Amino acid sequence: MELVILGSAGWVPQEGRMTTALAVRWGDLLVVLDAGTGLARLREPAYRRLLPPAGRPVHIFLSHYHLDHTAGLTYLPALWSQNPTVIHAPASEGQQGEDLTGLLESLVGPPFFPHGFSGFPFPVAVEALMPGTVVVEPGDPDAVRVDVRVQRHPGSSLGFRVGDALAFLTDTAYDPEAAAFVEGVPVLVHEAWVAGWDAPGTPQAGRAAHVSAEEAARTARDGGVGELLLSHLPPHGDEAAYAQMLACSWTRSAARAVFPATQLCRDGLSRLVRVPR
Ligand SMILES: [Zn+2]
Ligand SMILES: [Zn+2]
Repeated sequence: MELVILGSAGWVPQEGRMTTALAVRWGDLLVVLDAGTGLARLREPAYRRLLPPAGRPVHIFLSHYHLDHTAGLTYLPALWSQNPTVIHAPASEGQQGEDLTGLLESLVGPPFFPHGFSGFPFPVAVEALMPGTVVVEPGDPDAVRVDVRVQRHPGSSLGFRVGDALAFLTDTAYDPEAAAFVEGVPVLVHEAWVAGWDAPGTPQAGRAAHVSAEEAARTARDGGVGELLLSHLPPHGDEAAYAQMLACSWTRSAARAVFPATQLCRDGLSRLVRVPR
């Protein structure tokens, strides 16, 4: 299974970083986790190899509806034309796919976009996504299981575990129970909004919505993952500030002190991950 980071910024695209999107390619399948502006990378020659053959599906999983995770849905007709697309959209109890099609078409539809999904050059299906387990393309030799967990974030969000090979947790307040959800995955992609909440001058406003790098590292350590990749990097930082998320002078509890195998995501970073069978 190949993981490619398409967008590593949170909220605002900035200096070579698009907003959140991850490509997961396995066999003939492409799974995309979140549809931030990073989705536009799939137009670039270096990334086009990730697209599956004509006729094979693309599955997009949305962690939540905030625009830095969904703006790329309006780019889809520019990205591929021959791949049926399934959007797995977070649902409340009782919400069906057609309700969520209507919700998404309030963004991908007039007056914000010329037409809804029926105007796309390929079929789009919207499926209601709830906490639990989804099997992508059941019956297919490349079928893959995606486990889904609810997280604490304004308006709520979902965390993902794909084929026991990787986990992706973004836009979530710290939750010690997330460690059990990510247990043993080779790669954990986790948001980090600040280095540590107790650093002098750290804005506390995001604390109910996001984690610190130190908290992400605690989840990685307690879950016994192979590697931690910090993503959804904040617009109030720069590369020097991001480096401080890994290791910094004011505290010994920065990410690498808690979990040494920690790296920063950048757009284009990739990993090959063996899928446990
Ligand atoms: Zn976000
Ligand atoms: Zn959010």
